[in-house]
Amino acid sequence: MQHNIVILLGVQGCGKGTVASGLLAIHDYDYIETGALFRGLDRGMPLGAEIGQIMESGQLVPDELTCKLVESKLTANRDILTDGFPRTVQQAEWLVNWAVKNGFITKAVILNIPREMAFQRIQNRLSKGGGRKDDADPTAVARRLDEYYAKTEPMVQYLRNTPDVQFIDIDGTQSIETVFENVKEKLK
Ligand code: AMP
Repeated sequence: MQHNIVILLGVQGCGKGTVASGLLAIHDYDYIETGALFRGLDRGMPLGAEIGQIMESGQLVPDELTCKLVESKLTANRDILTDGFPRTVQQAEWLVNWAVKNGFITKAVILNIPREMAFQRIQNRLSKGGGRKDDADPTAVARRLDEYYAKTEPMVQYLRNTPDVQFIDIDGTQSIETVFENVKEKLK
């Protein structure tokens, strides 16, 4: 049986986390969320300390390090759901190659929302006490959004244009329920 890699895409605040929880509740995926993986590294160790600094400044962790960490988490005989990975063209090329080599079908789902809505949702999350350490500084949030449009948007274009990937566009501005129903329908 062929397995799927589902790549969740979209700027921070687009609802990826919520959609991921919904998908995990109805299907058995190996879940790869690089942000959470990096946050879970021991800050007392040199690698954890270095990555912690990079994250707090709002920059991206280097591709080689990121791919190495992801590779250690990928299993060839399970469906996989990724959130926060890939983030750059290089990471996407690496993942698509891995998927092709291991006989996976790759589906990329993007939740589209405008930048202003992303910024607003991150602020709201923070004011409700649900924010993260790297959400607290508006300059770092703005830098993360800049990183997204500079480095991640070209990666999205790469996935959109790669014949090895089924690309699915979703309107992320709608209600959580509608967004989730649309994603579920398109992944059937
Ligand atoms: P996230 O929770 O996905 O917003 O990720 C938080 C931070 O972790 C990002 O701002 C980056 O510093 C780092 N990070 C997460 N995923 C990646 C990735 N795929 N490539 C590089 N850095 C990442």
